[in-house]
Amino acid sequence: MDAFRASIRGDLILRDSASYETARRVWNGNIDRRPAVIVRCTGAADVQRAVNFARTHELLLSLRCGGHSAPGYGTNDGGMVIDMGLMKGIRVDPGNRTATAQGGVQWREFDHETQAFGLATTGGTVSNTGIAGLTLGGGIGWLMGKHGLSVDNLLSADVVTADGQFRTASETENPDLFWALRGGGGNFGAVTSLQYRLHPVTETFSGLVIYPLDQGRDVLRFYRDFCATLPDEAEAFAALLTHDGHPVVALVLGYNGPVEDGEKVLAPARQFGRPIADLVGPMPYCVRQTLIDEPSARHGLHRYWRSAFVDQLSDRLIDGMLEGAAGFTSPLSIIGLFHVHGAAARVPATATAFSARRPTWDFDIIGQWSDAAESAGHTAWVRALWDRVEPELLGTVYINHMMGDDRPERVRASYGENYTRLRDLKTLYDPMNLFRVNANIAPA
Ligand SMILES: Cc1cc2nc3c(=O)[nH]c(=O)nc-3n(C[C@H](O)[C@H](O)[C@H](O)COP(=O)(O)OP(=O)(O)OC[C@H]3O[C@@H](n4cnc5c(N)ncnc54)[C@H](O)[C@@H]3O)c2cc1C
Repeated sequence: MDAFRASIRGDLILRDSASYETARRVWNGNIDRRPAVIVRCTGAADVQRAVNFARTHELLLSLRCGGHSAPGYGTNDGGMVIDMGLMKGIRVDPGNRTATAQGGVQWREFDHETQAFGLATTGGTVSNTGIAGLTLGGGIGWLMGKHGLSVDNLLSADVVTADGQFRTASETENPDLFWALRGGGGNFGAVTSLQYRLHPVTETFSGLVIYPLDQGRDVLRFYRDFCATLPDEAEAFAALLTHDGHPVVALVLGYNGPVEDGEKVLAPARQFGRPIADLVGPMPYCVRQTLIDEPSARHGLHRYWRSAFVDQLSDRLIDGMLEGAAGFTSPLSIIGLFHVHGAAARVPATATAFSARRPTWDFDIIGQWSDAAESAGHTAWVRALWDRVEPELLGTVYINHMMGDDRPERVRASYGENYTRLRDLKTLYDPMNLFRVNANIAPA
């Protein structure tokens, strides 16, 4: 361990280190794991040494960028964490409309740099998720209708594979690895840098329209039909949450184009029913990127979560969601529908590892609370609602929204026809399954 410490530029944090308690924690306060060693890397050389050390000493290995994994894949018990949180370098090339960012960058940091040039790429809907974990799983965000998922904008990635080799993956270099990285999550190596395509994005027309729960059935039935009418520039998500102490339904709307066009396209949603509040208006892209940060961006809240894709919003699903919201056990919990459409849905299912390429919704029950002593009750609320609505959902899930106690066969189902190729590439690049603290694709 001493020799390893001397060989890296970053910090080595052991259980007796002063910073250990903070360093072992991740976004989900419900995750209470105690790794043996946390390596806070400063660059690809540190990552390479840490991967070699973990492999040689057969340590359980976690990779961490933003630390937002709900099941806590960014930490473990008794093993090593490669924490890239110090690796914050970002370089924007405004002429070529590209940006290269290191493996520890968060979306708010990335947006800060690219927005200086009026540019952006599809990122997450909460500003402090990590670019690496989010992108490698697919990347669902506000710009996806017009510009595709985060993986569709990935131009190349630098990755340290399980054998300790540093490789660049792109359409022309290691193309198989590049295909697998675009949806295969953290299964294929430690990504030290990602290069993205950027697009001109400055002002957006965005915000929430909020309705009381007793209008919820009509609003959600309107919403499912409204989604089918949307052009690529528009996004419409729906969320059941607590506002002013009461459960409400919110349509979370956005338009990435001229404000006058956005006003026309989003008008039916803003004119529907009798909303409590219409908070839609022009706003800079960076503001939109923080719009639903509260409370989900808060570090350390306790969380338990269930998720699936759904292609049709049945009346039974809508009724189940409304009953779930009426029985919220925590004012911080959310039931959400994220509509995937447009450019994100037109990419062929086998073009990247991410296979859910059709208009669909990512459905999430997100239990969030602050008091650890209340965990059993809030977790039971998520599970009861899940049991009620699961028959209305598909058996596939966005792998970045899986929980640790999800059935492992859901990973295989979710990759669909891409699973066999992914398993073959996993066998090639990581035959010993060094990178297994994730939605795991087991080698053959
Ligand atoms: C509040 C919240 C909002 C979210 N919103 C969205 C959203 O809008 N869109 C969306 O698509 N997803 C969203 N997600 C899901 C998110 O994509 C995943 O939680 C993702 O894993 C977070 O990435 P991270 O880097 O912060 O996670 P971490 O916990 O740091 O990492 C999670 C896993 O990602 C992999 N990973 C991380 N860094 C690297 C790396 N450098 N190299 C290789 N593998 C790595 C590893 O398998 C790691 O275990 C959200 C999650 C939360 C909690």
